[in-house]
Amino acid sequence: MKLTFLGTGTSTGVPSIGCDCQTCLSDDRRDKRLRVSVLIEDGETKILVDTSIDFRQQALRAGISRLDAVLITPSHVDHVFGLDDIRPLNFRHGAMGVYANERAWVDLRRIFQYVFEPDHFGGGLPKLLPHIVEPNASFSIGPNINITPLEVIHGKLPVIAYRFNDFAYATDLKMIPPASMDGLRDLDVLVLDCVRIKPHSTHLCLEEALAIIADLKPKRAFLTHLNHDILHERDTALLPANVQFAYDTLVVE
Ligand SMILES: [Zn+2]
Ligand SMILES: [Zn+2]
Repeated sequence: MKLTFLGTGTSTGVPSIGCDCQTCLSDDRRDKRLRVSVLIEDGETKILVDTSIDFRQQALRAGISRLDAVLITPSHVDHVFGLDDIRPLNFRHGAMGVYANERAWVDLRRIFQYVFEPDHFGGGLPKLLPHIVEPNASFSIGPNINITPLEVIHGKLPVIAYRFNDFAYATDLKMIPPASMDGLRDLDVLVLDCVRIKPHSTHLCLEEALAIIADLKPKRAFLTHLNHDILHERDTALLPANVQFAYDTLVVE
């Protein structure tokens, strides 16, 4: 299995508009962060997690020409506002399965009302096959990828983290309930939310993320949803050997 980081930035992206901090002015490409999204691949199977607001740019950069499914984490702007840009893939390959929890579907049907209640003439619409995911109800996409949705808490909002065989992707969370912690053990790769160094009301900060990693003991962990507090090269010194800051275009096999 292969995981490609399409975006690793917090909701504003990095650099942040109008900011002249050290990270936003950095020449290090690892400090340039589009909004969070990953591509999971196994053989011919390709699964996108989140149609981020930067999806078009990310798909062109990664050479995405086909997807088997899209999985949604929270229904927030940074994670879903690229949904309309699946249309070129629909034109070539037809409708696409989109997986989200019930709470996120309420938002998606409102935000993209024109898709679900079309009342205009002309103009192509995204073609979606909606699937509701339930925590711990596993399903498969392609011959080899077993997916287990796990509920995590983003402030007060229940959000889905996804386990793909021995990889897991858990972003936009402040707390992982015990049952979901148990679903995240014995991992080869854990991708975890870490918005910044200092505490945040709805996201994990660095200390909290490292405490969860120390408990779960994945072979390798990657931190994502990073804001401009984190300067890749300098702050890597703060991490244990099996943990690194993710960066856009990084591939993990
Ligand atoms: Zn987010
Ligand atoms: Zn900045």
